[in-house]
Amino acid sequence: MSKGFLVVISSPSGGGKTTLKEEIFKYERDICYSVSYTTRLPRQEEVQGKDYYFVSREEFLQLVKEKKFVEWAEVHGNFYGTPRDFIEENINKGRIILLDIDVQGARKIKECGLSAVFIFLVPPSWEELERRLMKRKTENELEIKKRLERAKEELKFYRDYDYLVVNRLIAEAIQDIRCIIRAEKCRRSRNEKWIKQLISGLS
Ligand code: 5GP
Repeated sequence: MSKGFLVVISSPSGGGKTTLKEEIFKYERDICYSVSYTTRLPRQEEVQGKDYYFVSREEFLQLVKEKKFVEWAEVHGNFYGTPRDFIEENINKGRIILLDIDVQGARKIKECGLSAVFIFLVPPSWEELERRLMKRKTENELEIKKRLERAKEELKFYRDYDYLVVNRLIAEAIQDIRCIIRAEKCRRSRNEKWIKQLISGLS
């Protein structure tokens, strides 16, 4: 019944987004996920079309030229972009679309004026973030160092976000995000058309 909107979630690398996304989709069936395009190579467990659309730099730049992205950015030396067709199609259908994008992408989404809620998932401490990055064993020591440095820069963007969720315990962070989405669904501005129809039906 309510209008479609975007839920933009950003967090420093290792912030726990992957687990969180999986858990949210277990419970919230009316939310869809925007699969980004990237020039990064797939990690071992990643699936083409589910985690990302993995493309070459040439293919990516061609898509940029054709204006196929609502936003795109370079992160950790690779390109990432949010597909325009998917976003427009689903927002028009009144769906809630979850986007896992970085701080640059979030800012661009804000500027393009689409209806969106911005959530920043932040680690409880630097020690914990480092521990999580080391535990997932997908980056070497130098990469981890770079990601920690970048995380410090990213956190400075916190003012761009409507909500800050601290990921102390993943189960709690999931609850927080589900509550935010539920409250946002009930926002008066998203339900104006529906309530007017209800009223006119009553009169
Ligand atoms: P990873 O390579 O670890 O999956 O993601 C690296 C960073 O790129 C993360 O901060 C993630 O949120 C961001 N990212 C993923 N997809 C997009 C996208 O489409 N646009 C932007 N701007 N960032 C993205």
